Amino acid sequence: MNANSNDVQHIDDGKLKDSKINVYNPKKTRELVNKLRINKDLEDDEFKYLLSMDEAESISILRDAAREVTNEHYSNKVYVRGLVEFSNICSQNCYYCGIRSGNQDIERFRLTVKDMLSAVDSGYEIGFRTFVFQGGEDPKFTDDVFEEVISKVKSKYPDSAITLSIGVRSYESYKRLKEAGADRFLLRHETADEGHFSYLHPSNQSFEQRKRALYDIKKLGYAVGTGIMVGSPKQKIDYIVKDLKFMRQLEPDMIGIGPFIPHKSSKFKDIEHGDMYLTLKMLSILRLMFPLATIPSTTALNTIDSEGRIRGIMHGANVIMPNLSPDNAKRNYNLYDNKKISGKESADYVRELNEYLMEYGYEIDFSRGDPLTIKNK
Ligand code: SF4
Repeated sequence: MNANSNDVQHIDDGKLKDSKINVYNPKKTRELVNKLRINKDLEDDEFKYLLSMDEAESISILRDAAREVTNEHYSNKVYVRGLVEFSNICSQNCYYCGIRSGNQDIERFRLTVKDMLSAVDSGYEIGFRTFVFQGGEDPKFTDDVFEEVISKVKSKYPDSAITLSIGVRSYESYKRLKEAGADRFLLRHETADEGHFSYLHPSNQSFEQRKRALYDIKKLGYAVGTGIMVGSPKQKIDYIVKDLKFMRQLEPDMIGIGPFIPHKSSKFKDIEHGDMYLTLKMLSILRLMFPLATIPSTTALNTIDSEGRIRGIMHGANVIMPNLSPDNAKRNYNLYDNKKISGKESADYVRELNEYLMEYGYEIDFSRGDPLTIKNK
C-alpha cells in the first residue's frame, strides 16, 4: 500500500450533527482547498463547509492537498519524540481528565529524577533525539526539579531537544526552564470559546489565562505547541472555527489534535468519543494553514481506530510520540480510557513501527526534528 491509497470509506460526524451541512460538491471543495493552501486562512463559513463535508471524495481532496504540502516540506519523514510521563498527580481538576485531582479511583505515581533520566538514557540509546516530559501540575515538580532534569539531559545529550508539557505556570517559571535548556513547550488551549472553556474546566481556570501562558511561552523563544480535543462535550463547529482563528493569531510551531475520549471516572463518562473523520479533516485543515508546523498523529486517534495513527499521517501529520515511561507509569497515566500502551505505542517497538510506516511509504526520522517554523526564524 502507498501514501495515496484511499482510506476514506465512510464519514460520520457523530454528535456534531446539529451543525452538519450535507454537501457533495467536489468542485467547491477543490476551490476552498486551493484557497486555504494559498491564503492559509478562510472565512468562517468556508471553514464550516470543510469541517462539515461528509463524503469520501471531498475528504480525499482535502487529505491529498494536506499530504502534498507535508511532503513538500518534510518529505515522507515521520519524526519520533520519546514521551516520559513523569507524574499523574495534578492539583487541577479539569472535568474531562482521568488524572484530575478529584478522581479518587486512581493509583497515583511520581517518577524520581533518576527514573526520568534513566528513561531518557534508554530512549537515547534507541535513537531518540527529542524527549517530551509530560505530567500533571504536580506541586513536587518545582522549577528546581525541572532545572535539574533539563540541565542533566542537556549536558549529557547536547544534540537532543527537550519539550515540556507541564501546564500553566508563571512567566518567571517558564523563563527559568527556558534558560535551563528547554526547547519546546506544549500547552493545549482546549477551546477558544470562554463559555465552552468554563464548561470543561473549574472556575480557577480560564481561556484568557491559557492564552496568556501561551503568549508568555512564545515570547520566551520556545517552540510553542497548542491544540484541542475534537468532539469534546458540547463542542460546536462554531467553536472549532474560533479555535482555528485563535491558532492563526498565535502562529504555533506545533499543533496537537486528538479526538476527545471519555474517562470512566469523569462527569463526561457517558459522552461518545470524538469522531475520527472530523479529527482527520482538522489535521488536514491545520496542515494547510500551517505548512511548516510539526503535527503529531496522536495516541488518542490510534485508540479510537486501530489504523488511526497511519490515517493521521496520511492526512498531514508528521510526528509520532512513542512512550518511554516505565510500565507502571504508562499504566496509570490515563487521561482517558483504554489508552494504548503497548505494541506500536511503546518505544520497544520502534523498529516494528518503522516497518509498519514503510508499508505506507513513510519512514521514521530520528533527528531532533525541529519544526521548520523555528529553522526559518
Ligand atoms: S488536563 Fe492536565 S491540568 Fe487538567 S487535570 Fe488533567 S493533567 Fe491536570
